[in-house]
Amino acid sequence: MILDVQGDDPLHSGAGLWMYRFMEELYPICRSITGEGTRETLRRIAPHVPIEIHEVTTGTKAFDWTVPKEWNVRDAYVRNEAGERVIDFNKSNLHLLNYSIPFRGKVSQETLREHLFTLPEKPDWIPYRTSYYKENWGFCVSQRQAEALREPEYEVCIDADLKDGSLTYGECFVPGDTDQEVLFSCHVCHPSLCNDNLSGIALMTWLARYLKQKNSRFSYRFLFVPGTIGAIVWLSRNEELVSKIRHGLVVACVVDHRKPTYKKSRRGDTEIDRAVLHALRTRGLDYSVREFTPYGYDERQYCSPGFDLPVGSLTRTPHGAYPEYHTSADNLSFVRPECLADSLSIYLDVVEILESNSVYMSQCPKCEPQLGKRGLYRALGGLPDAEKGEMAMLWVLNLSDGKHSLLDIAEHAKLAYREIRRAANLLIEHDLLKEE
Ligand SMILES: [Zn+2]
Repeated sequence: MILDVQGDDPLHSGAGLWMYRFMEELYPICRSITGEGTRETLRRIAPHVPIEIHEVTTGTKAFDWTVPKEWNVRDAYVRNEAGERVIDFNKSNLHLLNYSIPFRGKVSQETLREHLFTLPEKPDWIPYRTSYYKENWGFCVSQRQAEALREPEYEVCIDADLKDGSLTYGECFVPGDTDQEVLFSCHVCHPSLCNDNLSGIALMTWLARYLKQKNSRFSYRFLFVPGTIGAIVWLSRNEELVSKIRHGLVVACVVDHRKPTYKKSRRGDTEIDRAVLHALRTRGLDYSVREFTPYGYDERQYCSPGFDLPVGSLTRTPHGAYPEYHTSADNLSFVRPECLADSLSIYLDVVEILESNSVYMSQCPKCEPQLGKRGLYRALGGLPDAEKGEMAMLWVLNLSDGKHSLLDIAEHAKLAYREIRRAANLLIEHDLLKEE
């Protein structure tokens, strides 16, 4: 069964707003690579899509890695002599160094400064910093907040736990007609940050919810995992399943107003690479393409040489390349619902290509079939782009020799995939084309 993704236009069906609202709901939660915030985030996905929540115990080995201790925060602040909270976790969860060890005590201004992180070039923004694998305590503050600290001593309280527990990740499986899979993966480990983290979660939830209602050729697996360690843990527990993954995308940073960017898979020429590039090219809008690098999001795990999966990453401005990245400026006012919807429409175009791309055989390979007598010119007659439609039919007939897929033909003919797909459908209806 072919997926009908053209039927409802995501740009006009409130998808952008739906995703925005979902981000708004998840925004206040303090997430990390482990802990209650991540669990709570996954629980909030559960009403929308069938998500299985997995817990993996601290100390579990995953290839060269070990599941860390679980981190949870109740409160964190720095108080001045008058007892006022001059840094307060309750005002922004970015204020606390993510994975900070518990700490209580009076410290000198000098010592406190050794544990502060600021962004002098953006004096009003709070940076986002983590210390997952090195035990440390600290606070992230705006440069102005740091400058205002003039008292000789401060009271520091980090009421947190860092102890044996588990790492949590979510997995949503949407079965299709075959057990061949398309993988979508996003990270769920950042606190109140929108483009980096929440936008991927919102887009993937919408996509899973949508695909669940459709008949699809592929089965779809959506992974909501803490960055790096989560993907490594999932891969280590699912090695036997990996051979079913035909295509995959890492979803992140899909909400800013700048142009889309595609980072290719390690192999660089897989069908997912070609499908995304085709979808971007045929939009007629600006985009950029990057070759694979072993840095970025979890594509670096899926594309490690021992797996080498056909997984790319489709973002807008990539990881680290926008000024708001990993700062308090990556907040809800940075989110444009229409950009989210635009990103989603590219993802849907890609899904449409993957779902319906096939290799066919012309049933009339000796010379051209006579299209006129079959009414095929008439079938195109009323369409505004009849000429393109005719060319598409001729290309499909000529290249359907059992060696070229419809995507190959679209690229070769420099026509949109949709055009080629439509021509193929017409030819199938008239018994001129058969699937290989
Ligand atoms: Zn990040």
